[in-house]
Amino acid sequence: MFRSYRVGTVFGIPFRLDITFLFILPVFAWVLGAQISVLIPRLNETFGTTIDPGPLTQGVRPLVIGAIAAVSLFACVALHELGHSVVARHYDYEVESITLWLLGGLAKPAELPKNWLHEFWIAVAGPLVNVVIATACGLVLLVVPSVDVVVFLLLFLGLLNVSLAVFNMLPAFPLDGGRVLRALLARNRSYVDATRTAATVGKGFAILLGLGGLLMGNFFLLAIALFVYIAATSESRQMMLDAAFEGVEIEDVMTPADELVTVEADTPISDLLDVMLEERHSGYPVLDTGDFVGIVTLEDIQSVDRKDAVAAEQMTPVEQLATIDPSAEVMAAFRMVGETDIGRLPVVDSGELLGIITRTDLMRAFKIVTARDQFEGERLNEEQTPPGQPPRDRQRTPSDERQSEWEFQQNR
Ligand SMILES: [Zn+2]
Repeated sequence: MFRSYRVGTVFGIPFRLDITFLFILPVFAWVLGAQISVLIPRLNETFGTTIDPGPLTQGVRPLVIGAIAAVSLFACVALHELGHSVVARHYDYEVESITLWLLGGLAKPAELPKNWLHEFWIAVAGPLVNVVIATACGLVLLVVPSVDVVVFLLLFLGLLNVSLAVFNMLPAFPLDGGRVLRALLARNRSYVDATRTAATVGKGFAILLGLGGLLMGNFFLLAIALFVYIAATSESRQMMLDAAFEGVEIEDVMTPADELVTVEADTPISDLLDVMLEERHSGYPVLDTGDFVGIVTLEDIQSVDRKDAVAAEQMTPVEQLATIDPSAEVMAAFRMVGETDIGRLPVVDSGELLGIITRTDLMRAFKIVTARDQFEGERLNEEQTPPGQPPRDRQRTPSDERQSEWEFQQNR
């Protein structure tokens, strides 16, 4: 995705054209136009039609027909995305925008559905639109007069929509089929677990698609495989974190103010060093008659040579600190700590220090919620195991543990 332009809204959903789409459209028109002479005999053979390729491949006609076919292709892709979006809206999920780009369409939801039935219907709606269009093409074919160009375009569009439906239903997360798979998996296990499995299947399919693309010399397929692989990796990571922190509040993660060791603004640096030696933390909130005014760290005072220097002179003042609101999502804290190099994030509500979130706090919280999720998944499995059969063994292995640490590292 590069630069995109907003071209209008449908049902209140902004439609955008990515710059890559504007490049790929004429290429598609040209390729499709050039394929007409090859396609027509095949269509005649398969469907018993009698389209005469002669007139359709003369002069600029292939280009014009190619252009119509390419625009229709993207129109069908747009309708497919609209299918997803309308159902998402129906379930009260916000859809930020629909974008047409190099590899088709993307409906960008503001949030991911956490209810398996919602996700199932949202995912199925797109391919379902293509099935409806294909059926409509078939029905129209039965009633229109057999003008060669019309028959050709209707057959082409019908087949195209069948392929779009089939391709998108491949269980390659994040393609629609992968989302359906995740939704079905999430029926009896946690979302984190379902996402992990769906993403693994998705990556496997991406590798198969890529190999297929390489063997056939089909670079479009190769590009899609690469996209699926990257998207499966990043979305599953995002989803895992999102799902893991579902319902977890900033308050649950932070070290509350009353458990924090604080220093006064006028604490001499020599005393501060004693505190550091005793407490073994490297950063301390600085209070001035009860008000939170900044944070002083070991690095801040390492260069001090004046014996009478005090904490307030060396600290980073609160105005220059990244802080977080107690009502924010834990994921926001995750991103802030991840994107910047800050080790601790003060939780501040209208100037008052409520607590501090450190990287260690987040790491610990992540491990706990993942373990809890695993535990709940196991409990569910046990409940669903028929009597007499031992519950499925889903012990967390050390390599799983490393995996989640790696995922955390990637997000930092
Ligand atoms: Zn779709």
